[in-house]
Amino acid sequence: MAKFQIPEWAFEFHGHKCPFMPIGYRMGTIALEKLGVGKSHNHEMHVLSEMGVGHPQGCMQDGIMAATGATFGKGLMEKLYYGKVAAIFWYPGKGGMRIVLRNEFADKLAPHEFFKFRKQGIQPSEIPEEVRQDIIDIVLNASVEELFNIEMLPNFEYTPVKGSFAKDKCEVCGEYVFERYLRIKDGKKVCIPCSEHEPEEKGFYYPIFKE
Ligand SMILES: [Zn+2]
Ligand SMILES: [Zn+2]
Repeated sequence: MAKFQIPEWAFEFHGHKCPFMPIGYRMGTIALEKLGVGKSHNHEMHVLSEMGVGHPQGCMQDGIMAATGATFGKGLMEKLYYGKVAAIFWYPGKGGMRIVLRNEFADKLAPHEFFKFRKQGIQPSEIPEEVRQDIIDIVLNASVEELFNIEMLPNFEYTPVKGSFAKDKCEVCGEYVFERYLRIKDGKKVCIPCSEHEPEEKGFYYPIFKE
């Protein structure tokens, strides 16, 4: 099998060479292929990453964004905070799919020298180039079957929040606020910090699975 290729700009965007950005890039590429779609230029594909915080595999998400165009900035990447190296991909009219890194592949990577450096607190860009290239090559040379479990979710339902340009000024601080985020306090329309309320949204929406 030919070695999978990742464009150099994706590593530049990510900032360092590590194995998890390429794992995410491969996930995203598979999602495009299996859903039969191209990279999202506008607001097409949505990704629900199952990553959380406090575990370093989050680099995967930059790879997914680079491959699919479903970026955080376009509001197309949400996190479910499950702490898994997995993601759900949804495309309007195409349904969804879930891709998870196989335990066996995670176990295959785990003893690699790369992680010995990482566990000593050494950042990826400080790890010797040949060590990084070697673990990346393991990811790029692996077959799709070796890397991932893939489940098609044709009935997966997802409703993206409707975009709106409507905004108003907070009557306390005077700053513009998008209407969705204005709150009423003492009869005034105010922003969330001026309202002293906690934000009600976590910015993600639990997926609904239908049989
Ligand atoms: Zn990384
Ligand atoms: Zn305010």
